[in-house]
Amino acid sequence: MQVYRKTWVQIDLDAIKANVSNFKQHLYPHQELMAVVKADGYGHGAVQVAQAALQAGADWLGVSLLEEALEIRQAGIINTPILVLSYVGPEHVSVAQQADISLMVNDLEHFREVCSGAVSDQPALSFHVKLDTGMGRLGMNDEREFEQLITSYVRMKQEKLGQNVNWEGIYTHLATADESDETYLNGQIAVMQDYLDRLSKYELDIPYRHMSNSAGILRRLDRPFTNVVRLGISMYGLSPSHYMKGKLPFDLRPAFGLHSRLGSVKKMYPGQGVSYGTTYVVDQEMWVGAIPIGYGDGLPRNLSHRAQVLIDGKRMDIIGRICMDQTMVKLDRPYPRGEKVTFIGKQLDAEIPADEMAELLQTINYEIPCMISKRVPRIYSSCKS
Ligand SMILES: *Cc1c(COP(=O)(O)O)cnc(C)c1O
Repeated sequence: MQVYRKTWVQIDLDAIKANVSNFKQHLYPHQELMAVVKADGYGHGAVQVAQAALQAGADWLGVSLLEEALEIRQAGIINTPILVLSYVGPEHVSVAQQADISLMVNDLEHFREVCSGAVSDQPALSFHVKLDTGMGRLGMNDEREFEQLITSYVRMKQEKLGQNVNWEGIYTHLATADESDETYLNGQIAVMQDYLDRLSKYELDIPYRHMSNSAGILRRLDRPFTNVVRLGISMYGLSPSHYMKGKLPFDLRPAFGLHSRLGSVKKMYPGQGVSYGTTYVVDQEMWVGAIPIGYGDGLPRNLSHRAQVLIDGKRMDIIGRICMDQTMVKLDRPYPRGEKVTFIGKQLDAEIPADEMAELLQTINYEIPCMISKRVPRIYSSCKS
């Protein structure tokens, strides 16, 4: 669609590629890299990020929804394995088969449903069994149930009933990989090891095993037993936590920028109020700008009076309440309409990182690019294509 508005998200695909290459070098040689592009590539644009990541050497794509996997296939990425990381109902297994998309299996019951949902006139459904080793979210946390799943699968294969399904992988997810205390983390790794030991007693060749997210990869938690890692937040150039910032083995390059342009600039006089409720009252003559972005674009109203923006490489305060479509800023001098305003990103020597907005909102950086709505167009830049 043609873009007319003057507010945009700038995505630096070279940053994505640089991050992926750095991670590739950081991995053990036998490990494959899954680029996690769920939630529209953490708000960056799933297809564009997937293409950049694949160019830089990613081997897999990870998403949360079948819809997200299909979007990638429909964009022409047809040979890369894709894993759907959250629950898909048995009634849609054949859709995954048709598009060669791998599904997560959550437990024994889900396994049986997936097997009965798989059809014979399509390629076999590949699945990855999810183990809950301590995340307390998806997956099975019962070793007997796991053994039952194994024996059930083995029996199916022996009886030639399991032609429609293919056990492709096994994985778990870490709850505290980004924290300094490793006790819980080591417990999870030990539980995973135990599950794998159980599995190894059977003559099954399950090609893929995975565990680490960005924090796990950065810390090289992967023991030789895993051969895939799932890279999310740090592919986008953000640190998984404040603690991890001090532990990075290489620099991360943020890919997400949020920019706009001044739509109105005027001089205001003492006693005049700014925005709804006039919560900001001008105390001395000043220049005030209006920026065409608001909570209708996902810029939280909670940032009113708190956040800053960059103009001309300088920090300026947001004043008054953020509206649905406008945000006001106190200027240090008059600027022309059209002057660039940066909410997240760099201008000259100044930078407002996504982490700063996250801190103001008492949330994590993951939420920042996700919260900027689709109403704000994503503009892509890449020097090397
Ligand atoms: C989102 C997600 C990841 C990526 O995590 P990051 O912390 O963003 O690297 C990995 N695995 C699973 C199962 C996920 O849901």
